[in-house]
Amino acid sequence: LSSPVVLQVELREKRVETPDVRSFIFALDRDLSYSPGQYLVMDLGVAEDPKGRIRPFSIASSPTEKGLLMISTRVTSRLASSLFKKRLNELEPGSKVNIRAPFGRFLLPADTSKGAVMLSGGIGITPLRSMIKYATDLRPDLGITLLYSNRVPEDIPFRKELTELAEQNPRLKIIHTITHPRDSRERWTGLTSRIDERLVKHHITDVFNTIFYVSGPPGMVDSMLVILKKMNVRSQSVMSESFAGYE
Ligand SMILES: Cc1cc2nc3c(=O)[nH]c(=O)nc-3n(C[C@H](O)[C@H](O)[C@H](O)COP(=O)(O)OP(=O)(O)OC[C@H]3O[C@@H](n4cnc5c(N)ncnc54)[C@H](O)[C@@H]3O)c2cc1C
Repeated sequence: LSSPVVLQVELREKRVETPDVRSFIFALDRDLSYSPGQYLVMDLGVAEDPKGRIRPFSIASSPTEKGLLMISTRVTSRLASSLFKKRLNELEPGSKVNIRAPFGRFLLPADTSKGAVMLSGGIGITPLRSMIKYATDLRPDLGITLLYSNRVPEDIPFRKELTELAEQNPRLKIIHTITHPRDSRERWTGLTSRIDERLVKHHITDVFNTIFYVSGPPGMVDSMLVILKKMNVRSQSVMSESFAGYE
């Protein structure tokens, strides 16, 4: 794993992913060596934010997407939005920000005989998007199943892109589950349960040859870990990234 470096990156594009999620795409004018699943730490110099001036964000882009670095985050329109997020949301293309990267050990399995089962909800997709894009580009041997839960279909970040990746990658299976289909204008004919033991069991063939990946806000990660524990999955077979900082 590469040691973290400090660098300044320039915002190239802000992208609306869903009503609540924005991606920030920065130009990378030097080579940054990182692995899919790792995170960066951003400093926007907002000294007056009570939670501090820095935030960690998983790198949502893949190292195979050269010359750019992407993060995606929830921007709440609620008054509760932090000063950091307000500043982030106000950045315009051309703005420069300071980051430190890469960090973290939330990494794809080196051993390709094991399949990856990813459990996530909402914004927790960010490091998994990086891994899935990377595996589709460079690790066609790796079997990946993503069980992804969102409230309504309109809330699924990277929805179109995930569908396209699954079309390109025969070893990638994506199962969406929508917990509040009635709140959507779109008619949903897919799964509607939460991610529970039954759903996970249904989608794994060999629990001993599976590495589980769980990422997202702490409450979501904890509930997924409880499910895996109930299934007697060994802790060595579980990788998790908890987005501390979300309540
Ligand atoms: C390793 C790591 C990786 C991370 N990766 C990401 C990432 O990829 N994307 C990302 O967005 N965050 C990520 N985080 C969390 C991130 O660092 C922030 O802590 C988080 O985005 C919350 O930011 P905030 O408090 O500045 O702002 P805001 O999002 O503005 O939140 C303000 C307050 O409102 C609460 N809140 C926000 N939305 C809701 C809601 N819908 N319901 C209830 N309460 C809510 C928050 O918990 C917070 O207390 C990561 C954290 C770690 C440790």
